[in-house]
Amino acid sequence: MATTHNLGFPRIGAKRELKFAQEGYWKGQLSEQELQHTGETLRARHWQAQNQLDWVPVGDFSFYDQVLDTSFTLGHIPSRVKGLTGSTLDNYFRIARGRSGNDSDCQSVHAGEMTKWFDTNYHYIVPEFSTDDSFTLNPERLLAQLAEARQQNINAKPVIVGPITYLWLGKSKDDNDRLALLDKLLPVYSELLQVLAGEGIEWLQIDEPVLVTELDSHWQHALNVAYHTLKSAPVKLLLATYFGELADNLKLTCELPVAGIHVDAISAPAEVEKIIDWLPSHKILSLGIINGRNIWKTDLNATLDWLEPFAAKLGERLWLAPSCSLLHVPVDLAAEQALDPEVKNWLAFATQKLDELRIVATALNEGRSAVAAELAANAKAVAARKQSDRVNNQAVRARVASINKTLGERQNSYAVRAQKQRLRFNLPAYPTTTIGSFPQTLDIRQTRRQFKSGELPLDDYQTRIKAEIKRSVREQEALELDVLVHGEAERNDMVEYFGEQLEGYVFSQYGWVQSYGSRCVKPPILFGDISRPNAMTVAWTQYAQSLTDKPLKGMLTGPVTILNWSFVRDDQPRAETCKQLALAIRDEVQDLEHAGVGIIQIDEAALREGLPLRKSQWQGYLDWAIECFRITANGVSDETQIHTHMCYSEFNDIIESIAHMDADVITIETSRSNMELLDAFDHFNYPNDIGPGVYDIHSPNIPSQAHIINLMSKAGERIPTERLWVNPDCGLKTRQWSEVLPALKNMVSAAKTLRLSA
Ligand code: GLN
Ligand code: ZN
Repeated sequence: MATTHNLGFPRIGAKRELKFAQEGYWKGQLSEQELQHTGETLRARHWQAQNQLDWVPVGDFSFYDQVLDTSFTLGHIPSRVKGLTGSTLDNYFRIARGRSGNDSDCQSVHAGEMTKWFDTNYHYIVPEFSTDDSFTLNPERLLAQLAEARQQNINAKPVIVGPITYLWLGKSKDDNDRLALLDKLLPVYSELLQVLAGEGIEWLQIDEPVLVTELDSHWQHALNVAYHTLKSAPVKLLLATYFGELADNLKLTCELPVAGIHVDAISAPAEVEKIIDWLPSHKILSLGIINGRNIWKTDLNATLDWLEPFAAKLGERLWLAPSCSLLHVPVDLAAEQALDPEVKNWLAFATQKLDELRIVATALNEGRSAVAAELAANAKAVAARKQSDRVNNQAVRARVASINKTLGERQNSYAVRAQKQRLRFNLPAYPTTTIGSFPQTLDIRQTRRQFKSGELPLDDYQTRIKAEIKRSVREQEALELDVLVHGEAERNDMVEYFGEQLEGYVFSQYGWVQSYGSRCVKPPILFGDISRPNAMTVAWTQYAQSLTDKPLKGMLTGPVTILNWSFVRDDQPRAETCKQLALAIRDEVQDLEHAGVGIIQIDEAALREGLPLRKSQWQGYLDWAIECFRITANGVSDETQIHTHMCYSEFNDIIESIAHMDADVITIETSRSNMELLDAFDHFNYPNDIGPGVYDIHSPNIPSQAHIINLMSKAGERIPTERLWVNPDCGLKTRQWSEVLPALKNMVSAAKTLRLSA
């Protein structure tokens, strides 16, 4: 008999109930008790949704982040919040976001750093480690949730982050060796295991996704030390790994002294056979067979075909689960009333995925005939998706097949282009520009909302957006910026805007996924071959250009970013899908060029986010990602100037690929690092123009002219000044006009001052 379980459930709620409760509490509109009540309600609802499983995760619910929860469980919180007034929850939010729900200003502290959870779009609060750190057990949160689950007759399997992953995720504050803290950390884990055993817990899920990364011998050794220390505990440990293959950690994982392991059979199906060979015969093996990272229905018959031989070998030792926590998918497809019914039939959100799990387990345990109707319905949906001509567009496929190297090549080298562009645009030294968006006022948001809901007729909508474009252009002219933008007033989101106009995309109503804290994103769903029925940005851009004699920069989102911020079809390699996007955006680039737009920016904000977890696989990704950018951008004449923009600027390890994009100008985010991020340019002679950001748009602060000059001089130490541009770090859409105008004024006057000595 195969046992079923789940690794974690989305906590935000099908209608984002948690988000609204958190934000209500932070604004002082909700009491702590009311917030706690929302938590209880969501937990109860989610446990009910999982109750058909043999084991249900408990402790995965969080008011902000599971890593921050772990820090509290381990009594390991930054000293800056110790001794402050308020409840534990207040301190918890202080670390999460710099302030609790009811802080007066004097109790604000700086928030913990946030970073991406492995290669997902979920962000966790980074644990901070110093040599003298100590740990003390604080199991109350976990025990309270367990007690609740018990009361509801849930067969609870508590979930915690393992000690090695916890250390690995953290950052050392004093250059200490994080692993040196292991000796102090392990007794607290031992104690926790004792407490859980005392509660009658049989299985504990202990997450060590660090095992899918490249670990050196110290980290591998630490895993051995940790689990040999914990092995005497009177609870059974299910060591969970996910998000990738174990590769050279495979043998180590199999041999760790735990009662069972969970592996991700979606991202590493080929390893399963080897794992079964290596795994001692007294250990259980949990296979993650339902994809916890995307929203497609599983092909259940194919899964069974693959699984049955392993099930025969493993017998009672086989457990089944989604590949990873379902945190990374939306809650319930049933909530979608407006979704295209054909595409909806191909999808499965968290709730549906658990149902798939039940069907597979029943088929294994009782024979496929026990779920014949469900398997048949699944087969029908899977076949319909494969055959649909909304998925397969022969013209698009033929075009991708005909891609050749020259498609991604400019006519001439940068040096030749730069000469021609100088003649065409006649820009001063240290040219000034912005990254694209201008403040999105309440008015603009409302205009878009009213238009979408049908309240506002197209004509009125266009009139209002044009007025907004005109306002941005006039402001930019008054500021004396050199290269203007239209301001992106018509865009809600840089990916959604394009997805909505491309064939091959659908949009959900409630397909929210937690990004961090109360922030959720609703990734568009890329289901089919991508084509562009009509030009997407030309009319707005042309209108903006008609208002000014200054060059106006067209603004597009690049193919890699569109891909990385969408739920992407799983029936072909991502590289293939990306090429289709590249061709569609390439057409837009060329339409802009033909419409007389001389400067075109193609944003690749999320290029780095697609990097695989293992460095050994980076180059493969970079090769196709950069090629896709080149296909998009490089079909223009020498006189057309291509810009690209990236938010992060940790370029040290990928600078050659960045250079290979061959954009005429790249603008990047550097101001907060005080230009230290330009280090990459020390060792590598980046050949084209660069605009290092001089205005931190995440902060309400207005940079002074002197500050900007100082930053630019630092940039000038690394990059020849004739190739420097002056611009903010990123788009200005989240800022107020009252901040943006003085900041840009200082930026332009700084550039003018710099020109005096150029
Ligand atoms: N052009 C976009 C903007 O200005 C870029 C946003 C981004 O890089 N995230 O808003
Ligand atoms: Zn940016």
